Amino acid sequence: MTPFISTRNSHAKSVDFTQAILSPTASNRGLYTLPALAHIDFSVFLDSSYAALCEHVFQILGIEVESAILHKALASYGRFDTPQNPAPIAKFDNAFFLELYHGPTRAFKDMALCPFGEIFSALALRQDRRYLILTATSGDTGPATLHALAHKPNVKVICLYPEGGTSEVQGLQMQTANAENLKVLGIKGDFDCAQSLLKSLLANQSFQDSIAEKGYALSAANSVNFGRIAFQIIYYIWGYLSLVRQKVLKYGEEIYVSVPSGNFGNALGAFFAKSMGLPIEKILIASNANNILTELITSGVYDISHKSLHKSISPAMDILKSSNVERVLFALYGDERTKELLESLESTQRYALTPSELALLQDHFQAWWGDDEQTKSLIKSAYQKGYLLDPHTALAYGAYKQLGDGRKALICSTAEWSKFAPSVVEAIFGECLDDRGAIAKMLESSQAKGGVKVSIGADIQGLFNKPRIHTQVLEPDEVESAILQWL
Ligand SMILES: *Cc1c(COP(=O)(O)O)cnc(C)c1O
Repeated sequence: MTPFISTRNSHAKSVDFTQAILSPTASNRGLYTLPALAHIDFSVFLDSSYAALCEHVFQILGIEVESAILHKALASYGRFDTPQNPAPIAKFDNAFFLELYHGPTRAFKDMALCPFGEIFSALALRQDRRYLILTATSGDTGPATLHALAHKPNVKVICLYPEGGTSEVQGLQMQTANAENLKVLGIKGDFDCAQSLLKSLLANQSFQDSIAEKGYALSAANSVNFGRIAFQIIYYIWGYLSLVRQKVLKYGEEIYVSVPSGNFGNALGAFFAKSMGLPIEKILIASNANNILTELITSGVYDISHKSLHKSISPAMDILKSSNVERVLFALYGDERTKELLESLESTQRYALTPSELALLQDHFQAWWGDDEQTKSLIKSAYQKGYLLDPHTALAYGAYKQLGDGRKALICSTAEWSKFAPSVVEAIFGECLDDRGAIAKMLESSQAKGGVKVSIGADIQGLFNKPRIHTQVLEPDEVESAILQWL
């Protein structure tokens, strides 16, 4: 079965999962995506394990991965805090926080990248080809990709991050990554700059030829890779079924889902789950001051012509070109219209939906944004009531408070507080500390009488004593030759 079609020409040759993972860019500059999905009744999976649920859903979607490879991939959740339940739920303030950060690098990116890394390498081995994976990160994808692919056969990784655009912990997670097949490069520019550079390298034929001469094919592990999206569908279904098992819900009762969004990969997982019939009333999209998604969903206009990027305390959402929106446009309006809208964005930095198109979008999504002050006050008020949020999750919580109508909701908790400790400590205690000091402060106050219980990933604690291996910072136009030299 070859279920993957291009968002900009659905009649072009479709591809299978292997190709969608290994060579994720469709030839006409579209993205590979799934055709219309039939509704299914997920209640038959109520008693399935996480791994079994994933296997069932992949089968339904026509995602073919050899079962030995998929088993090995799902066994990577053994690196999570609770391997049988990689996405546990915490109840707080009448909402249910789907904690997606219990993997090795403490952000939700591990949920997809851990199994993705196993599958990618296994497929590359099977094909007897070597791949160079390029990835651009605003802070969490980089560490998770490096961790997932360290020492894996037939794969090398180049990770580009905006210098000064990540937290100190995120920076350390990348700069201390120690494996012969990994290379991390700082870029003088913001995340959109790093992502544009990545896209231009992926589309650059002479670069590909030079890479091929060295025995490598080019690939990407960004959230446009459907290999990641596929795994991001599963935890919504798992979360919903968990609430049914806990008797919070009766199967069929519709809930809200709130997602802090940047490149829209996580929200897209919710959208696909909803499209397959998971009882979701609305997907709430939370943003920071880079509120391009709020504008799109409330007004139908995507306009970045007058915008520049704001640095916020929720940096994984500091983004203007949100790549995965393209897959929603395709699902709702078809390939021709998607092509038209995206070409308008590329040439004029703007597109506008018609009123009926906007109404269709709003059947699925609602949106809200909050600035840094609102983020901090949400962190503080939640902490005072006994639950610790990172800045991204705080905004998802804010969107729920604003738009959730008091309904039952799953709120995506996308990072452990420890990745953004200075902002969290400033929000709660009003103190400005560096990452190491802020982490110590938080742990100390949790031990004090009446302190809120906080946990921290083992890898984060050890980071400050590791040597920095990757210290190179380059201008965008220096990157191509640096990569070729390293290979
Ligand atoms: C990546 C990330 C997001 C945004 O997810 P998208 O799939 O890019 O929308 C939100 N929060 C955290 C902590 C992240 O790492």
